Amino acid sequence: MNNEGIKLIENANLKKYNTYNLDCKVKYFVEIINLEGLIYTLNYIKENKLKYFIIGAGSNLILGPNFDGVVIKLSKLTKITITDNIVEVEAGAMMNKLAKKTVNASLTGLEWAINIPGTVGGSINNNAGAYNSSIFDNLLNITVLTKDLKIQEIPKDKITYSYRHTNIKEKGYLILSAKFKLTPGNKEQSIALIKDRCQRRLETQPLDKPSAGSVFRNPPEDHAGRLIEASNLKGKQIGGAQISEKHANFIVNTGTATSNDIKNLIKLIQAEVKQKFNIDLILEQEIIDWK
Ligand SMILES: Cc1cc2nc3c(=O)[nH]c(=O)nc-3n(C[C@H](O)[C@H](O)[C@H](O)COP(=O)(O)OP(=O)(O)OC[C@H]3O[C@@H](n4cnc5c(N)ncnc54)[C@H](O)[C@@H]3O)c2cc1C
Repeated sequence: MNNEGIKLIENANLKKYNTYNLDCKVKYFVEIINLEGLIYTLNYIKENKLKYFIIGAGSNLILGPNFDGVVIKLSKLTKITITDNIVEVEAGAMMNKLAKKTVNASLTGLEWAINIPGTVGGSINNNAGAYNSSIFDNLLNITVLTKDLKIQEIPKDKITYSYRHTNIKEKGYLILSAKFKLTPGNKEQSIALIKDRCQRRLETQPLDKPSAGSVFRNPPEDHAGRLIEASNLKGKQIGGAQISEKHANFIVNTGTATSNDIKNLIKLIQAEVKQKFNIDLILEQEIIDWK
């Protein structure tokens, strides 16, 4: 694999590319510099019948330790362009950058994104959201690469989405960019809102430790964190993975966690909460057991 539009690392460790900081050795890690590089890489993968995976900021993933394939990251596809109240953003851009840039342009609608440590591509794929807002609220369309490597614009109403889920992967789409329509707002008010939300998260979430955010969805009319805490599981540790003392719906890596430690802790939580409350907690994070 050799092309000016990519940076290739063979036998890479993705430890710093996932927010749990899990060791994950991959045969090829390809950082994409431009669209030509991406198309070259996907063609190479096809011709050589390799397995591959697109990673965003790795902020919702529990990565297994070894992958005999290609991991692609849209590292340099990060451009954000604002024209009036229309925002075009490449899929590799970070959500907090998008929030800051739109607020600075006195636009409102994406303030919630300040707390999402993910990329725009990963966040659209996951239908990320917070504070009763979600990424689909202001989305107009996405531009994708299809399975047969055609560039296609897909309007929002052609995407099926529900709470923290979309059919983008099932369709075989790789998101290249997205277009949002925002509303002219008051910059000072937006900045105050962002500051308040960041402060609240700092007070309630273990942001000083590696994690991938909320482990489980909140069941209807309840909170996963409350159920886990009421099951006396706060602080419970398996290997290097621990249920946070600060917020029970977070698992943190104390330094040596493996994906198995995290998965075992997840199973334990699900079993205890089921036994105590007869509630099935649904995982919000994505387990990647490479095959
Ligand atoms: C401290 C913390 C707080 C968090 N708070 C929230 C929150 O409030 N709300 C929330 O919704 N989430 C939250 N999360 C979870 C996470 O940040 C989001 O799910 C985020 O949207 C994931 O984006 P990512 O770029 O990291 O995607 P990744 O985790 O890297 O990938 C997620 C999925 O998207 C796919 N994907 C990535 N890029 C593309 C692309 N270009 N095209 C197609 N598919 C793609 C991947 O293959 C994978 O299946 C939090 C995480 C942390 C660590």
